[in-house]
Amino acid sequence: MKAFSEEKKRIVKYLKRAGFVRSERVINAFLKVPREEFVRPEYRKHAYDDTPLPIGCGQTISAIHMVLMMCEYLDLKPGHNVLEVGTGSGYHAAVIAELITSEDGKIKGHVYTIERIPELAKFAIENLKRTRYDDRITVIIGDGTLGYPEKAPYDRICVTAAGPDVPKPLLEQLKNGGKLLIPIGAQFYWQELYLIEKDLEGKIKKKNLGGVAFVPLIGKYGWNVEG
Ligand code: SAM
Repeated sequence: MKAFSEEKKRIVKYLKRAGFVRSERVINAFLKVPREEFVRPEYRKHAYDDTPLPIGCGQTISAIHMVLMMCEYLDLKPGHNVLEVGTGSGYHAAVIAELITSEDGKIKGHVYTIERIPELAKFAIENLKRTRYDDRITVIIGDGTLGYPEKAPYDRICVTAAGPDVPKPLLEQLKNGGKLLIPIGAQFYWQELYLIEKDLEGKIKKKNLGGVAFVPLIGKYGWNVEG
């Protein structure tokens, strides 16, 4: 029997019943990625609790429902070129990687994910290598509020830390017709998740998706404090 299969079944039932996730593609992606390989060993038995867990350096792996809801809002498609800001454990990037790969494995997109804390980037690189996502995910150490112009423009941009506003470089690096998700609001405890859509003419539309709680986005176009 596959590891944690009962726990996975239980959480999928809960996520569906609570209305957190509807898309079968997103559920299948969740079922494929072993979250237990992305948490610190002492939290392994809590890998399928729907809660953020500490990953060191004062940071967390996001709760399962938040990762899946963000994936659903982004409407990820095979072949997409994606930028993630805030690699953390690498887990969210792995779920995205599943969603930008076609079922037969012939169409593969790519995730460029940026982490500002080198120790966490190293943790994520090890996790992604062990779980064999390193062919579809590139981890970059740096300030993600500057984006990653080398591989722009992006079909989708996913920011997993909360900033005071949308970083200008990220808007510039988003493709026409692209989508960007970012929590915006207070530095600690309370923010709102925004879906930013750039239409084919480059016009921006911003939609508030409701309250969330994320760690701060620290950088030139984020909060400018060390945390
Ligand atoms: N997506 C992660 C996962 O699956 O484990 C969880 C991300 S955690 C909630 C937010 C991460 O954003 C932290 O690891 C933090 O160090 C990082 N971060 C904060 N500001 C950043 C910045 N300007 N550039 C890159 N990473 C940043």
